[in-house]
Amino acid sequence: MPKTFMPSFKDPAELQAHQLKGLQWTVSHAYEGSSFYRQKWAATGVQPADIQSLDDIRKLPFTTADDLRAGYPLPLLSVPVSQVVRIHASSGTTGKKKVLAYTQKDIDDWAHFFARCYEMAGLSAEDRVQIAVGYGVWTAGVGFQLGCEKFGAMAVPVGPGNVDLQCQFLVDLQSTVMCCTASMALLMAEEVRRRRLKDKIALKKIIFGSERSSDAMRQRIKELLGLEDMFDIPGMTELYGPGTGLDCATHEGIHYWADYYILEILDPTTLAPVPPEEIGEMVVTTLCKEAAPLIRYRTRDLTRLIDHRCSCGNILPLHDRILGRSDDMIIFRAVNIYPGQIDEVLSTIPEAACEYQVILDRRDDGKDYMTIRLECCEDFDPARKPELAQRVADEVKKQIMVSCQVDVVDYCALPRSERKAKRFFDKRPP
Ligand code: ZN
Repeated sequence: MPKTFMPSFKDPAELQAHQLKGLQWTVSHAYEGSSFYRQKWAATGVQPADIQSLDDIRKLPFTTADDLRAGYPLPLLSVPVSQVVRIHASSGTTGKKKVLAYTQKDIDDWAHFFARCYEMAGLSAEDRVQIAVGYGVWTAGVGFQLGCEKFGAMAVPVGPGNVDLQCQFLVDLQSTVMCCTASMALLMAEEVRRRRLKDKIALKKIIFGSERSSDAMRQRIKELLGLEDMFDIPGMTELYGPGTGLDCATHEGIHYWADYYILEILDPTTLAPVPPEEIGEMVVTTLCKEAAPLIRYRTRDLTRLIDHRCSCGNILPLHDRILGRSDDMIIFRAVNIYPGQIDEVLSTIPEAACEYQVILDRRDDGKDYMTIRLECCEDFDPARKPELAQRVADEVKKQIMVSCQVDVVDYCALPRSERKAKRFFDKRPP
């Protein structure tokens, strides 16, 4: 039997028993090792011995990004500094960075479950994995590489950008898998076409990190590169880094590694659990993280739980794609809009190409207006642009319940990016 990185639980009860054990260990470990957690819990009167069931997690207070910044430079540290073998940091837009510490066991655990991502994506030791994401203190690349080596495939660590070298290695090294953002994948796909390399490369799969992408964009990438399959890999620095789940080949949702962390989906304002299938904020609690355990950490990422067992048979539960961040929520004419909802609507319209921009502005009448600039697909008849614009506006109205103006522009009229594309432009006065 080949080596597997999947857990061996036979049924959900076994997984839950493992989670309870991990939760109890984490709470005791943090209580003993971290003055931050000890003080925080003292204020609410909760003790490690109070955690007797998984539901008891609700007795524990939340941890936030502010707590991480307040504890700078080594927040939540629950082991002696001598046991820390590495740090990574999360790029914040303002003020102090969030720095997270790792013990050797934390690094080993990360590599193990990252190897599981490649296993779930159906790779073998024959695969060659071109890693086109960043290296350095902001994680990403090193996680992809460790997991690849642990899994036993060949890592080709090119890093981000550098389109010439990416193309050269796709041809010369015959890379079969590429790991990059969706924006970078689109850029590469268009470059491969421009250079007429499609018949010279062996790329079969792409693993997309850390960026939302519409189905139309994914379809375009798949066609241009002649791919077999594409996968979404979630992750954040606070929770080890990328690789905390993957969608399997049935694409019913993202399997998340429930043997490494507990995922709660809560209403971001009331902090009460939302019903399954409804959008809420991901709140995570780690089960074996030593250096910087997370206990009910509010990630600000929005998704929904998928309330059925995946048809692939894997016992690991599913959440939906990340639909945006609660911080990115836009209030437009008293409606809450998450950027991911626009992706979802555009994905239902086959004539829409992959790039779009949403512009919000306030006009002389004092009212707010939304304009969507949308690329049509390449061979679209220009005479049909007004009809397509109307259809998109109707669909947005139906699904998100806001009115908007749609300008259909030519294919490739909007900018492309090697990193994350900016698609929302709020020009309203504050
Ligand atoms: Zn599955």
